[in-house]
Amino acid sequence: MDDLRREVASRLRNSLHGREIDMMENRIELPHMLGITPIGKIHDPHNEEMTILDTKHPFWQEYHETVNTKSAVTEKVETAIRSLKKDDIFRMTYPFGEEAEVVYVEVDKMGIEQENTTTCMECDAEIVYNLDLVNNGSSYFFEVELDCTECDFTGKFERGMTRA
Ligand SMILES: [Zn+2]
Repeated sequence: MDDLRREVASRLRNSLHGREIDMMENRIELPHMLGITPIGKIHDPHNEEMTILDTKHPFWQEYHETVNTKSAVTEKVETAIRSLKKDDIFRMTYPFGEEAEVVYVEVDKMGIEQENTTTCMECDAEIVYNLDLVNNGSSYFFEVELDCTECDFTGKFERGMTRA
């Protein structure tokens, strides 16, 4: 779920990082946190179309799991936020004490994935490839996608690992 965490972290960072938010005056819901609705404005669910809260958004269309209901999307995003909080990437502090109900929000930039490279088996050019660890419920597998920009070579490789 690291791709989801990165996606969510960058949205949280854009809308919340470095801000002091008065929780008495503003009702902060998920769409505010994700920058779909500005803080201080009342959220209208009609504005969610084609945002990250919509199953039709390209992110979910390309996601490795099927996420096809509104509640599943919300749950995924909320889980990602909880995980970012747990890892201290997303932090909320109370600069004036908790009773003041003003929170100061910080969201770290999540590191860019390290680039993996290999040599094309057709033309010896350098290829940057993506390595994904996929969990399909009962087992894990690595998936490598190669696409050479110098020649027409493309390839997809998988290596599975099942629980012993
Ligand atoms: Zn090649």
